[in-house]
Formats: sequence, structure tokens, C-alpha cells
Amino acid sequence: DNIKNIAILGSTGSIGTQTLEVIRDNKQLFKAFLLTAHSNAYLLIEQCLEFVPAYAIICDESKHQQVQESLAHLPVKVLAGHEAIKEMVTHTDIDIVLTAMVGFAGLEPTINAIKAGKDIALANKETLVVAGEIITSLAKAHNVKILPVDSEHSAIFQCLTGEQDNTVEKIILTASGGPFRGKDAAYLANVTREHALKHPNWVMGAKITIDSASLMNKGLEVIEAKWLFDLQADQIDVIVHPQSIIHSLVQFQDGSIKAQMGLPDMKLPIQYALTYPNRVKTNFKRFNFLDYPNLTFEQPDMDTFRNLKLAFEALERGGNMPCIINAANEVAVAAFLKNETGFLEMSDVIETCMQKISYIPAPSLNDYLNTDKETRIFAQNLIQKMPLKAIR
Ligand code: NDP
Ligand code: MG
Repeated sequence: DNIKNIAILGSTGSIGTQTLEVIRDNKQLFKAFLLTAHSNAYLLIEQCLEFVPAYAIICDESKHQQVQESLAHLPVKVLAGHEAIKEMVTHTDIDIVLTAMVGFAGLEPTINAIKAGKDIALANKETLVVAGEIITSLAKAHNVKILPVDSEHSAIFQCLTGEQDNTVEKIILTASGGPFRGKDAAYLANVTREHALKHPNWVMGAKITIDSASLMNKGLEVIEAKWLFDLQADQIDVIVHPQSIIHSLVQFQDGSIKAQMGLPDMKLPIQYALTYPNRVKTNFKRFNFLDYPNLTFEQPDMDTFRNLKLAFEALERGGNMPCIINAANEVAVAAFLKNETGFLEMSDVIETCMQKISYIPAPSLNDYLNTDKETRIFAQNLIQKMPLKAIR
């Protein structure tokens, strides 16, 4: 049959659950073949009861038995641990691996899936940020498509469809500006996780929501775009567009600009990644221009939101520098979410890591794994030694 088997890594998260909604609405096209969760056994079980995937993996091994017993009456094979994910993504019957886990943890499963010839629907941007060179060259070697799920990159991908290679002058990534758009450093010094978790336009997982508030999300997306679309740093612009209606733009060599627009809803880019190059009818709410008489644009404030500047710097320096900022950021965001560091201190941690961790110009996969480990330890120590003023 023509039904595509989908592996969803991180099925219990924001992107994962929306991917399952897309699959539920397109049963004639897709089957959930493999679902994975980190520790949310309850939701994983519920998803398995509905979708009956061939495999379910829970990273947290202490919950293996619970999941297994709840699904004993179904033909779902239940496995546990990170190693199981790395192994199972290579299963012959999988057509597309949708990477919707958070952070560096996505790197090795994605590499294994590419080596096994699986197309990747990529939500886990951290993987491309950390090791874009390795991922893109592996994808080329194994004739694998990397299909963007991130809304900005899906927009660019859609604008590029039907265009010839080497006709792009630059791309323009739009940013909502997050909940703290227009605020100054004095204000940011006192914001808490509760403020930062309230995003104006998108409901997302906690880590990316903090990244959106700090503009690190846009910084990671700049690096992601470099690898997805084979661009130089000076071909990537960022513009703040608070309404999040224009999802991003491409400017071609003749000066023409194409934009992709719509109401903010991740199900559209998720579905496009899975159906590409086809489009499939949806009943998603339609955009009406008259509801948005004012689409506005402003310059990002990179002096206040330093993460975006640091990400551009990491992109220019290349090597393991993007891996360093990613690891430092993951540690800083986790600490901020636990009220163990302040909002502005997150940028201090990243900047210090960029200065102190040894720079490797042409890293191997092993170098990336070591850089990630080393940076995490360093960043964690740094946060512990920082003055308590940041802690509320
Ligand atoms: P969530 O936090 O909502 O979900 C993360 C998922 O990954 C959950 O299923 C979680 O399991 C699992 N997970 C978490 N940590 C690990 C780990 N160490 N190893 C394996 N699995 C893990 O995140 P989002 O869905 O918001 O984001 C997922 C990815 O997609 C991120 O890279 C993000 O940047 C990207 N993205 C998200 C967008 C969005 O709108 N949410 C938009 C664009 C990109 P459990 O539930 O058990 O903890
Ligand atoms: Mg995005």
C-alpha cells in the first residue's frame, strides 16, 4: 500500500502530539509506526491505545514495565532506553522519522536514521545547529531528504519549491519578538520563568518557549537555515514581525521576494513535511487579511537580546562553536526553568562558554559529543558559582 510509516521521536511533546493529530486526520496516508517518550508514560500509553504503533519506546527505564503491562493486550512492542531509539529508527518498515525531541538528544538517532536511508522531518533544530555539516553531508551521501518542520524553514522551503538552485540572494526569517519585545535590560533582569513561559502567538514546549523569549530560538534558526538551504551568514536576515502571519521570506537574485503566510499553526508545516511534494486539503482555520489590517515589522534588538548576536557570531566562527552555544543554552535554560539563574545571566553563561571551551575548527562526531559534555559541565559550574542575586 501507499501508507507511509512514520516514526515520531518525542510523540508526547507539543510537536509530537500535533503530528499525531495530522496522522489522525490523514489515516489513508500515514501510520504511526514508532512512538517515543522521555518519561511521560501515561500519555505514551494513551497514544498507543489509540494509534497502536508497532513499537513504543520510553527512555525512562523505570517505567518500562508499567507501559508494557498497560499495552500487553495489543500488538505493540514496548522497549526502553535511549539505545533502543538509536536502534529502532533504522527499522526497514519506517519511511519518515519525525524528530520532535528536545535538544542534543536528537543528534545520534537522527544520524542513525539518515544512515539507514530514512527521510527526516526535522523539528529538532538543535541537531542541525550542533552538527549541521555532518548531517547535511550524510543526507547527501545517503540520498535522504531533510524536510523542515520549523515554521520559518517550512515557509522558506515552500517559497523555494519550483525555483532553480543558486537563485537565492537572501532569506528573511521572521521572529515574533516573544513576550519581552520592546523591553530593556533593566526589565529583563527581573523577569521570571512564569513571564517567559507566556508566548504571545505559539503554545510550545518549555525549552523552545524560553528560547523564543530570549531570541535564542531565532539564533538557532539562523544556524538551522544555513545548513538546510546552504547559505552564508550574510545571506540570512532576521526581522521582527509580532503578528506571526508571514512565516518567512526568500529574496531572489532579481529582487523578487516570496513570502509564505497563514495563521500560526504548527500542524501545517508538520503536514507539509510529511506530504511533500504534495499538498493535502485541511480544515485548518483560514487567514483573513481584514482581521490583520496592520502587519508590522521592526529591527531585532540584539544589544538587549544578546543571544541572537552570539548565535550569529557562532555561525561565523563555525567548527564546534554552534555546539558550544547550544549546550550552554540547554544548561542555562534548564537552570532558568528551575529558578536557579536569571534571564540575562543565560547570555552570560553562553558567552563565557564561547570564550572558555576549546575551539575545534573541523570537529568529528566524537568531538561534538565531547564538546557537548565538556560545555555542560562548565556551564553548570558557572551557574553554581554565580552570585545569588539572580535567584528568586
Ligand atoms: P516538548 O518539550 O513539548 O516535547 C519534547 C518531546 O521530547 C517529548 O515527547 C519528551 O518526552 C521528549 N524528550 C524530551 N527530552 C528528551 C530526551 N532527552 N531524549 C528523548 N526524548 C526526549 O518540545 P516541543 O515539541 O516544543 O519541541 C520539540 C522540538 O521541536 C525542539 O527541538 C523544538 O525546538 C522544535 N520545535 C518546536 C516547535 C513548537 O511549536 N513546539 C516549533 C518549531 C520547532 P516527555 O513528554 O516524556 O518528556
Ligand atoms: Mg520556528
